[in-house]
Amino acid sequence: MSKRILIVEDERDLVATLEYNLKREGFQTQAAANGAQAWAALERAPLPDLVLLDLMLPDVPGTEICRRIRGEERTRALPVIMVTAKGEEIDRVVGFELGADDYVSKPFSVRELLLRIRAVLRRAEPPGGQASAPAEVVFGVLRIDAPGHRLWVEGVPLKLTALEFRLLTTLLQRKGRAQSREVLLSDVWGIDGDVTTRTVDTHVKRLREKLGAAGDYIETLRGVGYRFRDRPEGDG
Ligand code: CA
Repeated sequence: MSKRILIVEDERDLVATLEYNLKREGFQTQAAANGAQAWAALERAPLPDLVLLDLMLPDVPGTEICRRIRGEERTRALPVIMVTAKGEEIDRVVGFELGADDYVSKPFSVRELLLRIRAVLRRAEPPGGQASAPAEVVFGVLRIDAPGHRLWVEGVPLKLTALEFRLLTTLLQRKGRAQSREVLLSDVWGIDGDVTTRTVDTHVKRLREKLGAAGDYIETLRGVGYRFRDRPEGDG
């Protein structure tokens, strides 16, 4: 089934260009010219598969929409790619801290955007295609159902953003092995290098807080990065 992209953008020419190119690549599209329209679209079922979110909108900042998407249970795991004017580096950091899955700066090439959309959609898909990946993993007080995108700590279900979930499962898959911030940025965020590694620290910190009793499973290796424990009881 073709994936549906919600384009939140007030520049009509850009919307037309995006719709034309996305449709040509087999996507369905839907457009919202401001925050109110975007939210109205997100309140209707079914949700789009991805949101392309401009930061500069006439009514509310795109960051506010992203915050709201991440704050509500039904939209929490929805993939978001933020779009902003070139050079707004501060927004880039804020974007990731708000839980955007990726980021493009205007002017961007349609080709680059399509690559990013595909990468984000691929990462958002449950890893059902991997025959070797077991459906459910239990590690100490942590239980993860990766295909179902569900997680429990001490039997209590937890909600993570798509990005936090990916960060956790990436670390867990590589348990006992140190992961540098650069490697995590590249493998979890899907971008290379030019986003500050502080982004990783911010997300790990929040992930640990959410994990509660399982937060200690992610160890900080000073000057190196992070490592998921070998064994739940520690000193592994
Ligand atoms: Ca705009």
